[in-house]
Amino acid sequence: MAQNTANEPILRIRDLSVEFTLRQGTLRAVDHVHLDVLPGELLAIVGESGSGKSTLGYGLVNLVSSPGQIAGGQVIYKNQNVFDLSPEALRQFRWKEVAMVFQAAQNAMNPVMRIEDQMVDTVQDHENRPRAEILKRATELLKLVRLQPEQVLKAYPHELSGGMRQRVIMALSLLLNPRVLLLDEPTTALDVVTQAYLLDILLDIRAKFGITMVFMTHDISIVAKVADRVAVMYAGQIVETGDVNEIFYRPHHPYTQGLIQAAPSLVGDLSDKRPVPGSPPDLFHLPTGCRFHTRCSYATDICRSTQPTTTALDGHTVACHHWEQVLGSNTEGSR
Ligand code: SF4
Repeated sequence: MAQNTANEPILRIRDLSVEFTLRQGTLRAVDHVHLDVLPGELLAIVGESGSGKSTLGYGLVNLVSSPGQIAGGQVIYKNQNVFDLSPEALRQFRWKEVAMVFQAAQNAMNPVMRIEDQMVDTVQDHENRPRAEILKRATELLKLVRLQPEQVLKAYPHELSGGMRQRVIMALSLLLNPRVLLLDEPTTALDVVTQAYLLDILLDIRAKFGITMVFMTHDISIVAKVADRVAVMYAGQIVETGDVNEIFYRPHHPYTQGLIQAAPSLVGDLSDKRPVPGSPPDLFHLPTGCRFHTRCSYATDICRSTQPTTTALDGHTVACHHWEQVLGSNTEGSR
């Protein structure tokens, strides 16, 4: 593969759509997504459950499985479309170039193999490296994720707590020195204290390796702690992207504004907490016009009839007919 240069996006997602064909019909879980991932950044993709962020993650590494399929678009890495890679190039791309820590990945560990053997197998599946060298690297990485290598390497997965298994998966994902780490809800199954600990470790990893991270989460309060940039996803579409401070202090989209107002720790005391009204749409029966209109206090006739296109501002994008009004409301106070 040809190298990309330092300032170019490391991953370019262009017009990506992912569909699932089920008994009830075909639904589009990711709909014409257009997004750049910049080198060294931590990009958070945030949205409620069912917004399509996990499917987007699987799509990025061409891991969508039946009954899902890539329905269109491209993911460009080092000037090549990931969907055009040969099976062998794709195998190398996953883990060596873009590693994944997917939701509940910890449960995917082989229960009858010691951690050290899983680590050696993972590396030797991609590279011909001696066991001793792999274990030396594994020891360094386990220390980095604040585990005791001598204890963990000899353990079976069931002998470790959920938080420890998640950290083992992180160490495992770094063994092949990937340039990009995809993390899908990595803290969801963990208690609040362990979550904070894990986020701290993630930031350590980033500082040490300068690795690019794409972090998918439903929890916007986590995003505030770790992200450089945020992409907000709703009903399969990206509705807003921007720098983390812009997103939190000057949201341009009503859904982003709603997510922020629903996170009390970010905007005041518990009595201020106001969940986004209503629920996400059924992807088989999407509303006409803007998909958010049934939940949006800014909605007008044009919202009910016409899908908004994406407006590109300075380092910010938003898909809303009334973004200027929404932006103005940030200074007027919460709606
Ligand atoms: S386009 Fe209309 S309905 Fe959709 S988010 Fe904007 S204001 Fe709300």
